[in-house]
Amino acid sequence: MLQKIALTVVLVVVAWMGFTYLNRMLAARHSRDLPRSRGKGAANEARATVYDTQKCAVCGAYVAAGNPTRCERADCPY
Ligand SMILES: [Zn+2]
Repeated sequence: MLQKIALTVVLVVVAWMGFTYLNRMLAARHSRDLPRSRGKGAANEARATVYDTQKCAVCGAYVAAGNPTRCERADCPY
């Protein structure tokens, strides 16, 4: 039983290390392919997806301003 647990732990660690290595390789390749003229600001802008939010007057939940989703309450204005 203990051997099975140890084997599982080893497999998880190996998978995690492989995943981390793959991510690092992809990130290195991606940063190398980026055009230098666009600069750091443009790269950050492309990576971040920001939504404007507005607060629901009834339930107080924050919803996306462009595409608001209803909450559970029947008197929700969205
Ligand atoms: Zn609401």
